[in-house]
Amino acid sequence: MPPLGEFELIARYFDRDGRVELGIGDDAAVLRCSGRIAVAVDTLVDGVHFPRGFPADAVGHRALAVNVSDIAAMGLAPRWFTLALTLPVADEDWLGQFADGLFALADRYDLVLVGGDTTRGPLTVTVQIIADAGTMPVLTRSGARPGDGIWVTGTLGDAAAVWRSAVEPLPDAVVERFRWPAPRVEAGVALRGIANAAIDISDGLVADLGHVCEASGCGADVDVTRLPVSAVLADAVGLDAARRLAIGGGDDYELCVTVPAEREPELERLLATSPGVAPLTLIGRCTDTPGLRFADDGRPFRFEDSGYRHF
Ligand code: ADP
Ligand code: MG
Repeated sequence: MPPLGEFELIARYFDRDGRVELGIGDDAAVLRCSGRIAVAVDTLVDGVHFPRGFPADAVGHRALAVNVSDIAAMGLAPRWFTLALTLPVADEDWLGQFADGLFALADRYDLVLVGGDTTRGPLTVTVQIIADAGTMPVLTRSGARPGDGIWVTGTLGDAAAVWRSAVEPLPDAVVERFRWPAPRVEAGVALRGIANAAIDISDGLVADLGHVCEASGCGADVDVTRLPVSAVLADAVGLDAARRLAIGGGDDYELCVTVPAEREPELERLLATSPGVAPLTLIGRCTDTPGLRFADDGRPFRFEDSGYRHF
């Protein structure tokens, strides 16, 4: 079989449909929206954001999932994305699996790939994602106020165990959490209008809640005993280690939101009536004293971690 050329590669694996005014194939895409857009971009580098030799479908899923998560944290559902792909070789098995992982998630949210770029080099995947922001205010990091409850979706710490835990082998359910991050779009969209602030937890609770507090000019008290850790993680590594992973470890892509006390009944109603919205756990409160404080039964909970940083 002759080697796959750049344009055959794009046509075979990525050019799928005409759901937009002008999509893949021209110099730029043209999209129709109601007026405001929200845009985000995230890059995955082989060996940095996923281990070398990571399954191709999981790379495809992850590249899109981390971007969908950023849009969810704005209280929005994504509509379109572009894909800049740098590949060492055009391996058709790899590309087929990559596209399967990518489009399985895209189809779930009716997300359309509208363009991209394909180059040769060390494996690097960049997705840029676009949402129609409509007219309502979006959720930002800067809206938290003293007194707000701090809530997180799902469970924390599972994904980080894959990078950081010495326990071998980890249970499959924990490894799967790392492989297939599930962005919380339904929760983000439902919380727009209820939450004061939101962020997705990509670098760890301490880092990401820290960003919210800094942007909002407030502090936070977190009760470590309330941190939602999965039973399977706690069983595998012990409760104390699980809590430390929940605080310092990233890659879970859960949402952390702050909700004012007067909107808590609305939140409870939402949780009771919308099963699609992930479980939400109250873990603490925003305060007017700057900084983050973690306590276990009233005693300060000490930890080393400050979350993931590239530089
Ligand atoms: P240009 O020369 O304008 O940079 P390219 O030759 O890079 O265009 O790409 C041709 C078309 O294919 C463009 O419409 C571009 O958006 C699209 N494209 C290129 N790579 C990808 C990709 N990996 N996924 C989706 N679309 C792509
Ligand atoms: Mg190009």
